[in-house]
Amino acid sequence: MSELRDLYQEVILDHYKRPRNQRRPAGANRDAQGHNPLCGDRVTISIELDGDRIKDVGFSGSGCAISTASTSMMTEAIKGKTVKEVEALFARFHHLVTSSDDPGPDVEALDKLAVFQGVREFPVRVKCATLAWHTLRAALEAKPDLISTE
Ligand code: ZN
Repeated sequence: MSELRDLYQEVILDHYKRPRNQRRPAGANRDAQGHNPLCGDRVTISIELDGDRIKDVGFSGSGCAISTASTSMMTEAIKGKTVKEVEALFARFHHLVTSSDDPGPDVEALDKLAVFQGVREFPVRVKCATLAWHTLRAALEAKPDLISTE
């Protein structure tokens, strides 16, 4: 288990140090800003929505290792997916980081995102891990207001 934990930390650190998709896509047509006052994480998610499919996605902002890595990995996970698929993925991810149930099949379905399973042991960090997802949802719903986890 500790080997697995080390691997998880490695993946998170890698995305923190070298975030993927840290840019605004040229064709972006939806943006939303998110803020997690508990930790100070701030993120702006920009997506290019083509019909009901996320054609491209990028982000900017600054935050802790968990929030930055979660945002980076989310952008990789959702690119090319439909809004419906993304909602299903968020539901699984949310369950993984908040529930104490055995994650079972969720871990497989989440692929790399399963590295955030350890977050459930640190309730304060759950908001860091889910900030990007809440902000993404706001971008999809085109809510103009600042999204706060509080
Ligand atoms: Zn944070």
